[in-house]
Amino acid sequence: MTRKLTPQLSEGAELVVASHNPGKVREINDLIKPFGFAAISVGELGLPEPVEDGDTFGANAEIKALAAATASGKPALADDSGLCVSALDDAPGIYSARWAGDAKDFTIAMDKVETALKDTVIRGEVNDAAHFMCALCLAWPDGHTETFEGRVDGRLTFPPRGDQGFGYDPIFIADGESITFGEMDPDKKHGMSHRARAFAKLVKAVFEA
Ligand code: IMP
Repeated sequence: MTRKLTPQLSEGAELVVASHNPGKVREINDLIKPFGFAAISVGELGLPEPVEDGDTFGANAEIKALAAATASGKPALADDSGLCVSALDDAPGIYSARWAGDAKDFTIAMDKVETALKDTVIRGEVNDAAHFMCALCLAWPDGHTETFEGRVDGRLTFPPRGDQGFGYDPIFIADGESITFGEMDPDKKHGMSHRARAFAKLVKAVFEA
């Protein structure tokens, strides 16, 4: 059952942003800012990163949100997201962060995508179709969760372009655009991203009475 705005989630309430990824924390903070929550990150609370062993974006978002909500005693919002490349059977997908290795170096991850994509080229035709997926989970300390998904379709380009955003943004061009997310003004990305689309569904279902 969808839970509408609760006393715990009224304006000014504290909402834990359950991510250790600074790029995501920045984007989630931008998205929730208009709702007047006081956002606290799991990093500030010193909470550990739970093991993400779900096999879908939704399952992993739920693991992160529930861990933060139960440990903090406050509602928590988590994001699980990734880049899905059609010619790679939607890899790296839920393993998008892992492709960057322990050093979290996305130059390496983008190189890996480029190499893997070259290996799939048949008769010189490159299938550069890709999409970003995002699952956002809002969890309450009593274990209730609400999860919403968003997706943005596009194509890949190499070499990477732009230093805005994070992760795989410099190689992704959304449908109808000519610049990468890495070259795009953050406000414009927030108008069309997978994260913004998942967030719009969450707002409609949970925040709007
Ligand atoms: P996780 O959800 O923490 O497992 O990490 C998802 C990974 O997917 C991130 O570390 C990014 O590399 C990538 N990713 C997710 N959303 C975006 C985005 O908006 N732009 C670029 N990369 C993203």
